[in-house]
Amino acid sequence: MVRGATQGAAWRLPRRRLAERLAEAGVKDARVLEAMASVPRHELVPEALRSRAYQDAALPIGDGQTISAPSRVAIMSEALELEGSETVLEVGTGSGYQAAILSRLASRVISIERLPGLAARARRALDRLGISNVVVHFGDGTAGRPADAPFDAIAVTAGGPAVPQPLLDQLAPGGRLVGPFGERGRQDLLRYRRAASGAITVEDLGPCRFVDLIGEHGFSA
Ligand code: SAM
Repeated sequence: MVRGATQGAAWRLPRRRLAERLAEAGVKDARVLEAMASVPRHELVPEALRSRAYQDAALPIGDGQTISAPSRVAIMSEALELEGSETVLEVGTGSGYQAAILSRLASRVISIERLPGLAARARRALDRLGISNVVVHFGDGTAGRPADAPFDAIAVTAGGPAVPQPLLDQLAPGGRLVGPFGERGRQDLLRYRRAASGAITVEDLGPCRFVDLIGEHGFSA
């Protein structure tokens, strides 16, 4: 779903190397590694930072926000356990990079960004890349998208005090929600699962640090 012409040949090798480093670091899902090796991250970072696009680092994207480090995107994507047919909700579009990765792993991606400038920029970038199965909405993602629910998987890409209840409510039976929750600037990456019975379980995937999830069911601005 990524248009070939926009993938400059010069970036192919660094991107492939990035995927190899992620595999060495423990990412196992072959579809995730293939997505990391094919989505042109350099198209989604500010032009002045393109030379750093395939380093494993978060980079500033304006409005005080960041594009997450590739390893973080890979780990979260892998934790969602996608097989290809799912509808996924992403909270925190940012640059659109994680949405672009998810577009290759699932059937449909609905992404919400609370900052209108970032939402518009990500929408343009994803269009430019020819990615047609991602819809970007502007708004408070802590409320989810009742109109598009239930979701087979939900990725929350900003750190909130606790998992927003509306997101758990919009998780389909068998669904997974992955996101960073805890104190400001110091969270744990948590994976919630809704069993077919409706029961919710949670696993701790380790410590992490994300920008704030701001909204009705997040931190206040
Ligand atoms: N997934 C992004 C990417 O690949 O570039 C990384 C996003 S950045 C770490 C987190 C994003 O979440 C920021 O763009 C921020 O504005 C957004 N955000 C924070 N609170 C939000 C909310 N309540 N609803 C939607 N987006 C939110």
